Amino acid sequence: VAATDQQSVCAPLPVLGQDVTVPLVTGGEVTYAALDYAASAPALQRVWDDVAAYAPYYGSVHRGAGHLSRLSTELFENARKTVAGFLDCRGTDQVVFTRSTTDSLNLLARALPAGCQVFVFETEHHASLLPWRHAQVTCLDAPRTPQQAVRTLELALADRDPYGPALVCVTGASNVTGELWPVRELAAAAHAHGARIVLDAAQLAPHHPVSVRDLDVDWVAFSGHKLYAPFGAGVLAGRADWLREAEPYLAGGGASRGVARRADGGVDVQWHDGEARHEAGSPNVIGAYAIASACTALTEAGFDTLVAREQHLIRTVREGLAEVPEVRVLSLFDADAPRVGVISFVVAGWNSAHFAAALSAEYGIGVRDGLFCAHPLLRTLLGGDPRTRGECGGPDAAVRVSFGAGTPDEHVERFVTAVGELVRNGAKWTYRTENGRCVP
Ligand code: PMP
Repeated sequence: VAATDQQSVCAPLPVLGQDVTVPLVTGGEVTYAALDYAASAPALQRVWDDVAAYAPYYGSVHRGAGHLSRLSTELFENARKTVAGFLDCRGTDQVVFTRSTTDSLNLLARALPAGCQVFVFETEHHASLLPWRHAQVTCLDAPRTPQQAVRTLELALADRDPYGPALVCVTGASNVTGELWPVRELAAAAHAHGARIVLDAAQLAPHHPVSVRDLDVDWVAFSGHKLYAPFGAGVLAGRADWLREAEPYLAGGGASRGVARRADGGVDVQWHDGEARHEAGSPNVIGAYAIASACTALTEAGFDTLVAREQHLIRTVREGLAEVPEVRVLSLFDADAPRVGVISFVVAGWNSAHFAAALSAEYGIGVRDGLFCAHPLLRTLLGGDPRTRGECGGPDAAVRVSFGAGTPDEHVERFVTAVGELVRNGAKWTYRTENGRCVP
């Protein structure tokens, strides 16, 4: 969805931290421009208010008999329903609360049936690439078009043992290029070959509606802290069967229905079948509640409006960067491929870590530099070997700017101006490495 004119673009949603000021090395101070949403987005004010309103009332969940325990249990279980609605889950799907996307994918990795083959593209974030290493993993070549991604997967799946279980893990939107992946088509290819598919929606869910039914994916994983909720909670939603048949991800109270000491001195246990099986220990009730609040807030704001606003910001950044010939924006697919507000680039003659440090110290802009937990992808995009990266960034690292529902126009405009000025005039300060980071 592209906004056609300025009029159709809504105001940013209120988020925390919009008034934070930071000092500049050049003197004075400026309001902080948080342009690192892809790492962690600021919490929505609405989420914060909801959490603050609930905080005096929280109590232990599930087995507490007191009023506040019952209230908290209801809110926790309702949070599941809200998330299931947000993701348009099937009626039989489970919503398991985890710590993060990384945690969700590791949980699923522990629940793979015996002999499961796993297929991933080398372009994945390490959270999607690494949890399956104990299984039989096929790492697929980086495709250069969405169609090639589907074709590559089809060819790989056609080669596999058609009777054994298989799982495809794919990211909906890249945390490096922001490009959208053809999830529906990849899911169709997976299913046509008897495989299942899990969607890493860490970068997709904050920017686009995700419908489990429409995309026909088997599982979805995402993190609260990228979806405008605070740190500490995430979600794995999807099919119940593999989860029900697996050993609990964590063993302990809450996951067990009954435990008994055996005559021979051992311990017998019956595990729960539902979500509780993989939620041992006292759950992060506030985290789950915050995620549900964010889901509600985004749904009420309307993704059409949010997407239109974000596309407007993307255009501002891309058009601004296109004016600076020294800047190369990183794309795997076509430059016009649909994308979310995540843009990585390198600047000729600049060390990426120095560039990011100068944006922070001289303009109060928070971006990210490095390899973004996607080393094989960065290698494809930039060449070189990320394992031999120089101390403070280096030529094979990039700068990433990312934004979303809370970003005011001024932040991206300041960013575009700053890039132009830094490239034209050079940094006003010098930067050195301290504890692996570049500082003024
Ligand atoms: N997948 C993608 C695409 C991501 O961008 C990230 C976070 N950068 C993750 C997974 C991991 O998310 P978390 O750190 O919240 O577990």
